[in-house]
Amino acid sequence: MDANRRRVDKLLSDKWKIERELEKIQANCKHENTVIKQVTDGTSSSPRYVCESCGCPLGYLSPQESVTFLKKS
Ligand SMILES: [Zn+2]
Repeated sequence: MDANRRRVDKLLSDKWKIERELEKIQANCKHENTVIKQVTDGTSSSPRYVCESCGCPLGYLSPQESVTFLKKS
């Protein structure tokens, strides 16, 4: 195994651990404070409601709310 391969394996395993940890936090979070944030998913990015403490996406804005958000930012 070369050095890059080892590094990649280590990173992938860390990534897996981090994702599980995030899932645990988000599953236990009550999402009490919502904020509107620009969320990138895949190739596009759009404003969404996300939980302020855990960052979990909670919903899309209505077209009207989107316009208001984009005007403010
Ligand atoms: Zn939350």
